[in-house]
Amino acid sequence: MKEDIVILGAGLAGLSTAYHLQKGYSLYEMESEPGGMARSLYRGGYTFDYDGHLLHFRQEYAFKLVSDLLGGNLAPHKRSSWIYSKGNFTRYPFQANFYGLPKPIVKDCLLGLIKAKLALTPTLSPQKTQRVFCGEREKGEGGTNGNFENWIRKTFGNGIADNFMLPYNRKFWRIEPRELTCDWLDGFVPVPTLEDTITGAISDSTKPYGYNSRFWYPVKGGISELAAGFLDRVKNAHFNKKAVTIDQYRHEIIFEDGTIKSFKKLVTTIPLPELFKLLVKAPERVRDAFSMLRFTSIFILNMGIKRDDLSEKHWIYYPEDNVVFYRIGFPANFSMDVAPQGRTSAYIEMSYSHDKEINRDMLTSDAIDGLKKTGIISDENEIEVCLPVDIKYGYALYDCNRKQALHVITDYLKRFNIFPTGRYGSWRYMSMEDVILEGREIASALRSQ
Ligand SMILES: Cc1cc2nc3c(=O)[nH]c(=O)nc-3n(C[C@H](O)[C@H](O)[C@H](O)COP(=O)(O)OP(=O)(O)OC[C@H]3O[C@@H](n4cnc5c(N)ncnc54)[C@H](O)[C@@H]3O)c2cc1C
Repeated sequence: MKEDIVILGAGLAGLSTAYHLQKGYSLYEMESEPGGMARSLYRGGYTFDYDGHLLHFRQEYAFKLVSDLLGGNLAPHKRSSWIYSKGNFTRYPFQANFYGLPKPIVKDCLLGLIKAKLALTPTLSPQKTQRVFCGEREKGEGGTNGNFENWIRKTFGNGIADNFMLPYNRKFWRIEPRELTCDWLDGFVPVPTLEDTITGAISDSTKPYGYNSRFWYPVKGGISELAAGFLDRVKNAHFNKKAVTIDQYRHEIIFEDGTIKSFKKLVTTIPLPELFKLLVKAPERVRDAFSMLRFTSIFILNMGIKRDDLSEKHWIYYPEDNVVFYRIGFPANFSMDVAPQGRTSAYIEMSYSHDKEINRDMLTSDAIDGLKKTGIISDENEIEVCLPVDIKYGYALYDCNRKQALHVITDYLKRFNIFPTGRYGSWRYMSMEDVILEGREIASALRSQ
């Protein structure tokens, strides 16, 4: 078989596709190295990922593959994640742990949850049931066919909604949760039982929740090691090759250096809004579909700190508006290799909406103020490295137009044998494991065509 398949992008999705195809492909990446979003940066003796990148596994196959690619350079960790609100730390997830918060808030949350559970309990007379959704994954917990705010209120009640879920999600997504659908949930938001929540309201419960209560991370070298492991097993990869035009009618890609590559099938992991800019004139209906895609951007400050006692936690969520960041992670607590001796590091995550311009200098100074206000650092002289990373396409927004827009886009591209893949090609909320598995799927589908 000739190299009929072209893969654009050497992030984990592109690498996994290449790895699983084994032959008959060529891979092109605009950067000088592989990994895409799952890459590490090295400064002043510190190793920073673009943003915290922890490995979670739902499937044995992915775990075995990643372990093999990392050749033993992988360690498990039991998550220690917390929420900081009203001046207190409570364990994540909030909906199962509000022990330690002021008593009126605990009461509010519990009462709201009980009312929500009662409202969801089917009564003898079906007309009186207050169930408002009828989703396929309903399972008596509020259903996932409505908007995200409704799902939160129906599932957890108004206390948990107003004291954590809604403020946090507003801060993170940068839009009203009622504008989001529930299509992305897929187990990302754990739903504890009433008994578990009561236990976590009256005591410091350490019960693990959610698919990510354990995670894995390379012992050395940061998350880049994973892409490096793939690259060792992938042939025919070309770097510094930026696609500037994709002529879908002629089945050709033009690169920035003027070279042209023709394809029979194209797997592209380029973010969809950028892909659209590369295509040769597409019909108006398709252009409209691309223009409907919305996203949340992430601005991260990776900091090297001249102290080693910053926090013993893995990461902390900040739902309140009194600080600009929504989460801080402490990578030295899951890999001793990422900071020099006697030092530690932190990633400070902020989100913004692409509709509104942001002043990055202000974000940096606001973040430092927040770090002082919350007692993470006492003086900004403790910061010896501050490395900003700006991720334009952070998270695809699941609004009510997304599904239909994607349908139009993928249908159109398929006519030219173009297969958008990966987190930003599929325009989905995908983890590293998800894109690795998707790479395997697309490789298998292409091989059998
Ligand atoms: C803030 C943040 C935190 C995350 N944290 C986690 C986590 O803790 N755990 C987890 O499992 N997942 C996490 N993820 C998700 C994870 O990063 C992604 O699922 C995965 O890395 C996506 O891989 P990809 O190959 O689909 O996309 P990308 O990594 O974006 O790869 C696309 C590649 O295409 C290349 N490219 C783009 N345009 C062109 C062009 N014109 N020509 C040639 N090449 C081009 C890019 O340079 C890039 O290398 C996080 C994501 C974000 C944004």
